[in-house]
Amino acid sequence: MTNSIKEPYLLTPGPLTTSHATKAAMLRDWGSWDDDFNQVTADVRTQLLAMAEAASGEYACVPMQGSGTFAVESALACATDPNDKVLVLMNGAYGKRAAQLLHMMGRRYVTLDKGDYLPPQPNEVAVLLEQYPEITSVFLVHCETSSGILNPLEAIAEVVHTHGKTLIVDAMSSFGGVPISLAKTPIDVLVSSANKCIEGVPGFGFVIIRKALLEAGKGRAHSLSLDLYAQWEYMERTGQWRFTPPTHTVVAFQTALAQHREEGGVRGRCARYTRNRDALVKGMRAIGFGTLLEDGWLSPIITTFLSPNDPAFEFNAFYAALKSRGFLIYPGKLTEVESFRIGCIGQLDAAVMETLLVAMQDALSEMGVFLSSHSRSA
Ligand SMILES: *Cc1c(COP(=O)(O)O)cnc(C)c1O
Repeated sequence: MTNSIKEPYLLTPGPLTTSHATKAAMLRDWGSWDDDFNQVTADVRTQLLAMAEAASGEYACVPMQGSGTFAVESALACATDPNDKVLVLMNGAYGKRAAQLLHMMGRRYVTLDKGDYLPPQPNEVAVLLEQYPEITSVFLVHCETSSGILNPLEAIAEVVHTHGKTLIVDAMSSFGGVPISLAKTPIDVLVSSANKCIEGVPGFGFVIIRKALLEAGKGRAHSLSLDLYAQWEYMERTGQWRFTPPTHTVVAFQTALAQHREEGGVRGRCARYTRNRDALVKGMRAIGFGTLLEDGWLSPIITTFLSPNDPAFEFNAFYAALKSRGFLIYPGKLTEVESFRIGCIGQLDAAVMETLLVAMQDALSEMGVFLSSHSRSA
């Protein structure tokens, strides 16, 4: 995969490197109230429900302007009320952010905090649900992008469902790139955004939610602009977004969805991302970098590598050296160890990963960092 314009590859979890066709789809202006644009919105909503294998009678797809966090906030506000109590499963920045959002909107919650890189386990969730029967809902991040861990969604969903609770999933960085079936897995609310595995550009997120929950959310929102129910009700009635939509982003997203289909849907995309990850991890270990996670928890989305102990290694210099070679990497987000992250999503393939590995070796020798080939995981 080559860039048509000379610009660096984004090895980041979104915004990410998009195709030329997706960028080109933005070279036209659209009337936000016009029927042509409304048809794009309706088509995107239908396609997202199909991708989630969500029955359209049972679930609705509601897009929301803003970054992914705006959609998470609107979903939490709609799907919970002040009498509810939410169990927030945390193992990184995005679980923490959900707790912060609940706190700010005056919702009650308890947390299971597993630190930086351990997964919440289904049996731990079961114990907490029995210990705190007043819990009404559980919040889980599917791929916790701050470490790259893929949390055990299906097994936790089963436990939550068995206990008769509502499950809210932040599938921001996994939806479209890792199979998720609402027909098979009991998920009540799923949130994702345009600029992750579907490979669109930033500008909106979307919430796939049980219609019954959406209807119960009428009047609950703490915010005018992030009122998910009001957005849905208005969209159903008029076909339009309630306030100015990111028109170019929505049209680019429709183009990105067509490419997703051509690649073989979620399975095709997951296969490419997995090849990217495997080439990356193998090559990085050969250079001498260790991964934070054991192999079984590595997502095909993004991988955290531990910074080497060599005093000559410094992240900012490494970043700059890779940038000058055409690659933007991502800083780490761990509290305890020095690390950095490399994304596998976007318009990248294993050949791009191989050129990245060559650039890495160049960058390290320029910095005077010499690693001995070993493999270490925490
Ligand atoms: C990207 C991401 C978000 C949303 O982040 P924004 O910066 O608001 O787009 C939320 N959760 C996860 C797991 C993410 O990867």
